[in-house]
Amino acid sequence: NPTLMWFRSDLRVNDNTALHRAARNGPVVGVFLGCREQWKQHGHGANKINFWLRGVADLGESLARLDIPLLYRDVGHFSEVPEALIGLARELGAEALHFNREYPLNEWQRDEAVIERFKQVDLRVHAHRDAVAFTPGELLTGKGDFYSVFTPFSRAWHRQIEPSRLELLDAPKRQQALEVSSDPSPEIPTVPSCIEQQWPAGETHAANRLSRFLEQRARHYAEARDYPAQPGTSELSPYLSLGMISWRQCLQAAMSANQGSLGEGDAGLMAWINELIWREFYQHVCWGFPRVCRGHAFQQHTETLAWRDAPNDLAAWREGRTGYPIVDAAMRQLTNTGWMHNRLRMVVAMFLSKHLLIDWREGEAFFMQHLIDGDFASNNGGWQWAASTGTDAAPWFRIFNPTTQSQRFDADGNFIAEWLPELADLPPRMRHAPATDLVSDTGYPAPLIEHKVARQRALDAFKSLTKGS
Ligand code: FAD
Repeated sequence: NPTLMWFRSDLRVNDNTALHRAARNGPVVGVFLGCREQWKQHGHGANKINFWLRGVADLGESLARLDIPLLYRDVGHFSEVPEALIGLARELGAEALHFNREYPLNEWQRDEAVIERFKQVDLRVHAHRDAVAFTPGELLTGKGDFYSVFTPFSRAWHRQIEPSRLELLDAPKRQQALEVSSDPSPEIPTVPSCIEQQWPAGETHAANRLSRFLEQRARHYAEARDYPAQPGTSELSPYLSLGMISWRQCLQAAMSANQGSLGEGDAGLMAWINELIWREFYQHVCWGFPRVCRGHAFQQHTETLAWRDAPNDLAAWREGRTGYPIVDAAMRQLTNTGWMHNRLRMVVAMFLSKHLLIDWREGEAFFMQHLIDGDFASNNGGWQWAASTGTDAAPWFRIFNPTTQSQRFDADGNFIAEWLPELADLPPRMRHAPATDLVSDTGYPAPLIEHKVARQRALDAFKSLTKGS
């Protein structure tokens, strides 16, 4: 009898724990469940769903080469998943189900419901750790709490990581063909073709990107990673968030380039490895503090902050019309490409939550709607960091000056010129904060609010909070 392998955000045949284990017990049938209503509720936009389903199609081709059929079923909500899987297991005569664990609350609850239902009908189910090195709860502070600050988390991670956690698992061997045929690829929402070209889906493309990054960019990563006009980072986030590449494959490749070391060596590689640990940190946070998955602030006293209800300002931010060129250029990068450079994610998130004093949840949702790498844990973590409501949060009095950030990280104004062609004719130094009379005929707006005024307003709002709490 075949074993059922349920793919979710682990769309690869290489180094896939659940698939590897499933294949040890005989023939495998893969299944992917489209949960379009649930995805809508989770705020995923067309960019991510398009990438996800292109990834499913690519996975289907890789599995077909191994004679593993891939079934695709649309189920709507997570609540319908257990019955869909049981039905499928019965149809195929499968006795066991394998999947890799996911840690945000809804996904966790969905999986627990599946485990429960399978037990009730005497079918075996195996849930594997794959997306992280440590199961949330394995790394705790001396007091037995979840870490809420990154640096000690990262130290504990380094202290406890053993080679067995980093071992790469082979893809299954080609199996004997089954009498089950694969389903046709699902219907994929359309997105501009430039987005599909920029982000080709599947594990081959992910592996190529990783090699290219390690050959060409990694050694300069520590310096180059903050400059959005330079291709200084790996641009692997969409692939990592849907599992078209594993964090182990990334770490192993980085270690090979670093003479086998994880803890010391090349500064660029060390900085990059650190970012992969940030990714894991936020997964632990959302499991350890599920309130963040329910839309609540990690720092509970910030729940009473008087966020402004300012629909016009919010629209200007979303549409890249704030009058702060670096913010506007970044927002246009997001809406045009489905991705935004990390430095700019911090700048625009702080601008929305501090300068405009608009609830970070608005920004989190807008990012989710557009990001091709939209990932609940990292997105929520990043937004709450910027808004000073989260773990390891930026102290509330630290408010980036967008103009200074622009001068520092886009000194030649190249990034601004790329996304705001209306400012491209200005001398580079003037692109950061163009005088209104210079740009009035281009239609570029005056700043929504002066930096000093906005800063003071945010400080006052946070100060009253601290006193009141
Ligand atoms: P690299 O610099 O090459 O880093 C390698 C990998 O490490 C990334 O692909 C990513 O998986 C991980 N990583 C890097 N930085 C972070 C970080 N700060 N937190 C967690 N993981 C990190 N990342 C997402 O994957 N999805 C999101 O939805 C997301 N939303 C964000 C929202 C805000 C407000 C902020 C400030 C950050 C967010 N990030 C998110 C983190 C980070 O911006 C992206 O992971 C990074 O820009 C992706 O580019 P890259 O692949 O070239 O990264």
